[in-house]
This record gives sequence, C-alpha cells and structure tokens, in this order.
Amino acid sequence: MNNLRFQVVGEAFKKKPLHVNVPAQSPASYFGCKVFTREKMRLYLPADVYDQMMDVMLGGSRLDRTVADAVAQGMKQWATEQGVTHYTHWFQPLTEGTAEKHDAFIEFDGNGGVVEEFSGKLLVQQEPDASSFPSGGIRSTFEARGYSAWDPTSPVFIIDDTLCIPTVFISFSGESLDYKAPLLKALHAINVAATDVCHYFDPAVKKVTSNLGWEQEYFLVDEGLYAARPDLLLTGRTLMGHDSAKNQQMDDHYFGSIPERVAAFMKELEIVALELGIPCKTRHNEVAPNQFELAPIFEETNLAVDHNMLLMSVMRRVARKHGFRVLLHEKPFAGVNGSGKHNNWSLSTDNGVLLHAPGKTPQQNLRFAVFIVETLMAVYRHNGLLKASIMSASNALRLGGNEAPPAIISAFLGKPLSQLLDRIESAGNDELLVMAGKQGLKLDIPEIPELLIDNTDRNRTSPFAFTGNRFEFRAVGAEANCACAMIALNTAVAEALVRFKERVDARIAADDWHSDATLRAIIEVLRDDIKACRNIRFDGNSYTDQWAREAAQRGLDTETSCPRIFERYLDESSITMFETMGVMTRKELIARNEVKWETYTKRVQIEARVLGDLSMNHIIPVATRYQAQLLNNVKDMAAIFSMDKAGMLSARNIMLIEEIAQRTATIEQQVRELIEARKRANVIDDQRERAIAYHDMVASRLDDIRYQIDKLELIVDDSCWPLPKYRELLFIR
Ligand code: ADP
Ligand code: MG
Repeated sequence: MNNLRFQVVGEAFKKKPLHVNVPAQSPASYFGCKVFTREKMRLYLPADVYDQMMDVMLGGSRLDRTVADAVAQGMKQWATEQGVTHYTHWFQPLTEGTAEKHDAFIEFDGNGGVVEEFSGKLLVQQEPDASSFPSGGIRSTFEARGYSAWDPTSPVFIIDDTLCIPTVFISFSGESLDYKAPLLKALHAINVAATDVCHYFDPAVKKVTSNLGWEQEYFLVDEGLYAARPDLLLTGRTLMGHDSAKNQQMDDHYFGSIPERVAAFMKELEIVALELGIPCKTRHNEVAPNQFELAPIFEETNLAVDHNMLLMSVMRRVARKHGFRVLLHEKPFAGVNGSGKHNNWSLSTDNGVLLHAPGKTPQQNLRFAVFIVETLMAVYRHNGLLKASIMSASNALRLGGNEAPPAIISAFLGKPLSQLLDRIESAGNDELLVMAGKQGLKLDIPEIPELLIDNTDRNRTSPFAFTGNRFEFRAVGAEANCACAMIALNTAVAEALVRFKERVDARIAADDWHSDATLRAIIEVLRDDIKACRNIRFDGNSYTDQWAREAAQRGLDTETSCPRIFERYLDESSITMFETMGVMTRKELIARNEVKWETYTKRVQIEARVLGDLSMNHIIPVATRYQAQLLNNVKDMAAIFSMDKAGMLSARNIMLIEEIAQRTATIEQQVRELIEARKRANVIDDQRERAIAYHDMVASRLDDIRYQIDKLELIVDDSCWPLPKYRELLFIR
C-alpha cells in the first residue's frame, strides 16, 4: 500500500510517551530561574541602580541613560554566567506572533580581536531591519525605519543561548507598530482613571493595576498525521473531513484522565514555563477529543500578555519534541468545540483591594457597584468595538458556533448582582438618599463570590461574564494576542470611569469630597448609568437564535462578517475614545485596520488555494480511481452474469459511480468558480473592499466544496483515501 496516510497512522499508533526529566527540586526552586527577576537585580546591580530600576518598574518613572548602562552590565553578567552568547529585542508585531532578531554580544576590540559588549544603548533601543512587518502603510509614508525600545516593566528572560528583551515596536515618527505600545498606554489610562475614582472612597490609593488571567485552550495532533494534512500544515485548520462517528457526544474527554504521551508533554511544558516565570497552575482536558487547557495564576496585564505570547511559542517547541503539533487555531475541526482563550480581567489597588469584588462595608460595596456598572457602561457603549478586538478570520469560524460565545457582546451578571443593580435602578430619590445616608450605601450583598464561584451559577454561554471577583472575556480566540482585547477593554473602562467622575464632580462642590453629598452624587450617577446600559445585560442562553433577534432589537451590534466588524475601530466613538485616553491616534487606527483587512484577505486566500489544490490533485483523482475500480467490477459482472442479474448485482456500484461522477463534477465546477471569485477580488485595490469581497464571495464558497468532499469521504474506499481522517487526527495518541 503506497498510501502515506497508512504509514503515518501506523507510526502514530506506535508512539511511546517520552521520558521527561522532572527536576528533583520543588517548582519553587526553579521558578523564574531563566528570568532576570527583582531578586537577581538586587544581586547583579549596584544598590543605587537597583533602587532607580524599582522606581522605573513600579513607580513608572523615566529611565536614565547611565542607569541603563549599569543595568545592561548587570544583565550581561548574569546572562553570560548562564551560557548566553546572544541577545534579542523581543517584540509583538501585528502578525499575531512574536519577532526576534538575534545579535551576538561581541564587538571588535580595536586590536583585531573581539570583546563581549552589551551597553545601555543596545539594551534600550534597536533598529531591527524589520521592514516586512505589517504597518498599514505607516512606514512607507513616513520613514522606512521601525524601532524597538525596551519595556523595563517586563523582565528579560533567557531562551537557549539568547537573552530576550521585551520591547515595544514603533515607527520613526512614534506610531505604534505592535501590540505592546498601545497596551502600555491603555494600562496607564486605566490606572489614572480608576485611581481618581478610588479617591472618592480611599484617598490613600496610589495606583490601580489591571490584572489578566488567561486560560489557553489548544489541540494536540500527532506530528506525522499533521504532516500528511496539507490543510492543517498551511492554514492551521482542516478544510475538509467528515465527522468522526464518535467525537465529543459522550463528554468523556472533559476533565478525563490525561493520556500518558500528553501528560509527558504537559510536564515538560510546565517545567519550561515555570523556569521562564510563567506561573502555570491548572491543566486539564477540554471538551473536544485531543483538546486541552493550561491556565496560570493571574498577573499584571502587560506581564500576563508577554507570558501568554511566550507560552504559545514554548508550546510549539515542546510539542515537537514529543511528536505532537499544537494547534492554536480557533476552529481546527468542524463539528467539535473550537479553542478560546478566556481572559479573566479585574482591577486592583496598590493597597490590595480587588475593585470587582464585593466588600464588607456599605462604602466598599458602593465602590464595587461603581466599578461593575462602569465596566458595563464601557462594554455597552463599545460592544461593537470589543467584538472587533477579538475578531479574526479564524476566530470568526468559532464564534456563533454552538459551543462558543456568539458574535454578539453581552454581559452576564448572575442573579444576586442583577438584583442589586435592579434595586438601585428602581429606587426613588428618597429611597436613594436613605440608601446613601450617613452609613453609606446600605446594600446587603449576600456572599456573591461564593455563589458565583460555584460553577452551577455560571453562564458558560456568555461572552463577558461576571465570575465573583472578575469578568471573564470569553470571546477571545486561542491564537490571538490577548493584548488586542485588553487594549480595547481597558481603554473603554478608563473612558467610562473618566466620564463617571466628570458627572459626579459636576454635582458636588470642590470642598464637598468625602461627604454625604458626594455619596449621593455617586449613587445618582450610578442609577443613571444602570438605566443607560441595561441593554448589555443578558443572563439567558446566548446560543439561541431568539437572543440574536432580541439583541438586534436592543441595538447591540449583531454584525457577523469579520471584515465589516473591523470597521468598528473606525467609528467616531472609538477614535474619540482612543485619542482622548491617549492610547492610539486616528492615523494609527486607520493603519492598523489596513493590516487587519489585509491579514483577513490573505488567510482566506490561502485557504481557498489549498482547498482548490487538494480538491483537484488529492480528492478528485482518488475518487476517480475508485470509480474506475467500480466500473471494472460492473463490466466484469456483465461478462459473467446475464444482463438482468448483472444489473441487479451492480445496482449499488452503479449508484456510487453516478454519485462520484456528480460530486466530482460539482467540485470541479465549484473550484473553478472559487478561482474566478478570487480573481475578481484580487483586482480590488482598497484593502477594506477586498477583504469584504473575500468574505462575501470567496470564504462563503469553501463550505460548499467541503460538503461534497466530505460526502465522497464516506463512499470512497477507505484504503484509497489519502488524508488522515477525523477519527485518526482526534483519537490517536
Ligand atoms: P475556570 O476555568 O473555572 O474559569 P480557571 O481556574 O481555569 O477557571 O481559570 C481562572 C483564571 O482566572 C486563572 O488564571 C486565575 O488566576 C484567574 N483569576 C482568578 N481571580 C482573578 C482576578 N481577580 N482577576 C483576574 N484573573 C483572575
Ligand atoms: Mg474560565
């Protein structure tokens, strides 16, 4: 049998779990050993330099050049002791992955030899020749150069022999060309806005931090099977493949025991991640076969984003060592769950208060209500934008499916919290005054966290759900850079808090702060906002068509076309928000959308090409060969038996011959139309128009072709079928 599929399936069956050397020490002893942590800074930096670095890292003060030189010296010393020879500025361009260009520490010494050099200058700024990263035209119209600049708030780390320095990536004229630069600005905006609002309740608050705890879902596929599926290899998902008879119906994979070979992979992944300071905590099977999840303990958002990007690349490397490929695509297989990356998000103060958690005193509960309601206001006002922030060609395939949040953003609060907001909303003025009387807001909120942390009261269909002391933004895609969602969310909430404060302040005299009048003003504005954002609240089942209709009536964004959803970034309300919060300019937003549209087009284009090729040179030839076998059989029957008997005996084969003829002809016709549609779209100059054409005319045809192929898979002899089937991809360990 000269069929690659059978070779690789055989190999996959034979695979044994790899042995993993688990360090004898406890994780605490190797956690962060590859990171230039604060502890190491204390060891390797002079005391005054260390103090100044702490001011930069924790207090947000500017980095002095002489300090940078001293830090570079300390870093180099530590790194070379670990066998490091190279360094790289590590950044997050708009391509979704990370980028790095490695340079050796060596410099000429002036005497024909070399010395190991690493100065503050090299640490702080670089000019990578990165002209092929997408910039949406910013660099061609201004300056060809892009700069990477050190982000001292995220610690440097070692991968193999290279010191990796987290950096922002900006153009010569200062425009952001990456995710980190606007993220840092958004985190600054939320810090300022939230700290101001906290001062109504606690003047001692100095800083508010945005927290992110992501949960990374992924699939594992045997490397051999992966290599035999050109669609997986080139597009990250299967463009064809009939459902396996058994998939996730039995719910037997979710939280089931982890297969040995996978467990070995997970163990090694966790060791490597812990060494890099990623605080991995949870691992389990997910709903679909071969689907898993890894979640760390939540961290400050900028660091959490870096850690997620790092983890995704570490996963890819470690998986290959174990003979797996990791699939981060949001919908690698039709008919089973896709993969998301829940973003658990909250705000906390420097004195340890979680602002989205209910407190013990009436004052604390009023503050809690303010942060909940203003978060809802942000999500309501910018629901279309938030959807745009999590949208991509691949995530679009997951959203709106039966297992994933719909392509409509709404917020789930749960019963106790909904009742609380309803009470504030329906209270008359007099009642409000009593509620906001001398003792502050008299709200008896009965143990909300305990109630919600109990899974039974969770709504898993909501794209944005309150879960006791945080919100869980579930619509984020598995392969996305979380920064994209975090930029939009933090900026929107910052704007809501600023507007909230403006309205409260307008109601009180300057010397009235911390008085009853302030409390009264707060609760009045709160009541207005609860009314204003009522439409974003939805506790029902978000997967139903009825909800889609109701959401449209409520005025929520129900657009489902990915390239049209991107337009929400260019709404005046979005541009104003990003500009006034100091996060992104109109020019940057326009440029970034060009990149989004272009990326969308390219991904659909590649899928269309791959499907066209596979149809013509894998599927049709194989189906035709099988058809020829059937034809021979029918002819042989006619040679041996009487006409009548042969006709009877061959009836089934004749039907199959006809079906194959029809389906292959249909596929051929559809592929021709697909090529035509691509040609028509390709001549469109405008990125937005082209992406829309690709969505409406190209992407929409892929499923029709797939339908025919999947039907052929069911009738063609299994031993001829060239591509590993779903039952093999999803069940072989
Ligand atoms: P589940 O799957 O039940 O939603 P997990 O335990 O898998 O929960 O993941 C929850 C994630 O939320 C973890 O990363 C956890 O650290 C994070 N998390 C918990 N509390 C907060 C919080 N207040 N703010 C942000 N993230 C949080
Ligand atoms: Mg979760």
